[in-house]
Amino acid sequence: VRRLSAEELQTLRSIVGDPHVLVDADLTSGYSVDWTGRFQGSTQAVVRPGSTREVSRLVSWCLEHDLALVPQGGNTGLVGGGVPLGGELVLSLRRLGDVGPVDGASGQLTAGAGVTIAAVQAAAAAAGWAYGVDLAARDSATVGGTIATNAGGLRVLRYGATRAQVLGVEAVLGDGSVVSHLGGLLKDNTGYDLAGLLCGSEGTLGVITAARLRLVPPLGERVVALLGLESVAAMIAAVGSLRRQLPALEAVEVFFSDGLDLVCETFGLARPFARRRGVFLLLEAAAATDPTDDVAAAVGALPGVAEVAVATAGEPARQAELWRYREAHTEAINSLGPPHKLDVTLPAAAMARFVELVPRVVADAAPESRCWLFGHAADGNLHVNVTGVDPGDDSVDEAVLELVAALDGSISAEHGIGTAKKPWLGLNRSPTEIQAFRRLKAALDPGGILNPNVLLP
Ligand SMILES: Cc1cc2nc3c(=O)[nH]c(=O)nc-3n(C[C@H](O)[C@H](O)[C@H](O)COP(=O)(O)OP(=O)(O)OC[C@H]3O[C@@H](n4cnc5c(N)ncnc54)[C@H](O)[C@@H]3O)c2cc1C
Repeated sequence: VRRLSAEELQTLRSIVGDPHVLVDADLTSGYSVDWTGRFQGSTQAVVRPGSTREVSRLVSWCLEHDLALVPQGGNTGLVGGGVPLGGELVLSLRRLGDVGPVDGASGQLTAGAGVTIAAVQAAAAAAGWAYGVDLAARDSATVGGTIATNAGGLRVLRYGATRAQVLGVEAVLGDGSVVSHLGGLLKDNTGYDLAGLLCGSEGTLGVITAARLRLVPPLGERVVALLGLESVAAMIAAVGSLRRQLPALEAVEVFFSDGLDLVCETFGLARPFARRRGVFLLLEAAAATDPTDDVAAAVGALPGVAEVAVATAGEPARQAELWRYREAHTEAINSLGPPHKLDVTLPAAAMARFVELVPRVVADAAPESRCWLFGHAADGNLHVNVTGVDPGDDSVDEAVLELVAALDGSISAEHGIGTAKKPWLGLNRSPTEIQAFRRLKAALDPGGILNPNVLLP
């Protein structure tokens, strides 16, 4: 990595202002390591632009000086894609924090790339709307980061992933040019869908600076239920049945007994049921009128349900307690040391086989490790977390991802490829697809300066 000269640092300062170029190691360290602690990089400078114009000037300058940069939002990404593993400059977009007014007629708002998902949710709620994306990282994850990773989360079943919420973006391409299409027209077939292309591009094609987002009607009446089931087969049958019989269904999450034990031990939580159960489904139904009766009828019709705990619309604290069993998995697992996180999708028909095989595959690849499973059941999305493996040892990643591909699944459901899964992109994408990716990259980022170590093998 080429050292920045004092003059070059001065140029960066002249673009964004003195306080927004961080060079001291104690200031840059938090930007250089990922949320899990598995991916540790280093950088000479973190640059924090305050406007699209500043982003554009920075990117043009980096291209001219052949300097690579890593765009970063909330740094909650889980595939090592937002940290400077190759010594790149970090371009932190968190200062792009403006939230525009909600357009009540269309149900839309424009937000800067650095706005957190919690802030989008709050702005939408204040105007009588809601945002369709929700995830446990909501207080830190940003609009730009969730678009760049096409984040999924807890409400994909009802509203789709982030791509389905994005009506337009403003972004700076790799040559410093600004593309901006924030009009928010619902129907707009005027050529290539650049916003759609930037969704899931992981900072490799452009730096997102703002987005026009679709909002959804708020559904005030919510019911949360936790089901204890005896088998994975019962869980899969239950998900299909709930989707058909409960139109108010908004989230269906799955976890297993060992994960629940860990969460309860780590956070001192009471166990939800007196008897130990193998598989748990957490479901949330939301509607304009109280869906409790509909939930009771749909759950009552399920075979193989051993236990049920329900928190009705009037019990928000109890609802939060039930959600905590699922949402606290990520943190509880992280407390055991940096995990290997493999976020995968399986076809429904292969899910039971995968749950049966994956602990064995993990144990064969890394006998000292432990394997934890949880995820978004209605999307066929399981988070395979492996603890007790050296951060640099990829053998367990390879074994699990090969199993996923053999069962016709996707090696990345929602976190992206990043650097963590780059070697295995070919398990899901053909050589001609990867060649097309490279051509797109070359067209939009001709100098290859935007997140050069991510996504493409
Ligand atoms: C507790 C926890 C729970 C999570 N739950 C979920 C979940 O349910 N579903 C899910 O999908 N993810 C989940 N994640 C992962 C993470 O929150 C998402 O990937 C999120 O979209 C990352 O947003 P961020 O702003 O933190 O992006 P970062 O981590 O900063 O960056 C992620 C990627 O996007 C790029 N990027 C960031 N900002 C921009 C920008 N403005 N322009 C261009 N590229 C950019 C980066 O270069 C990097 O490649 C979870 C993470 C944690 C820690």
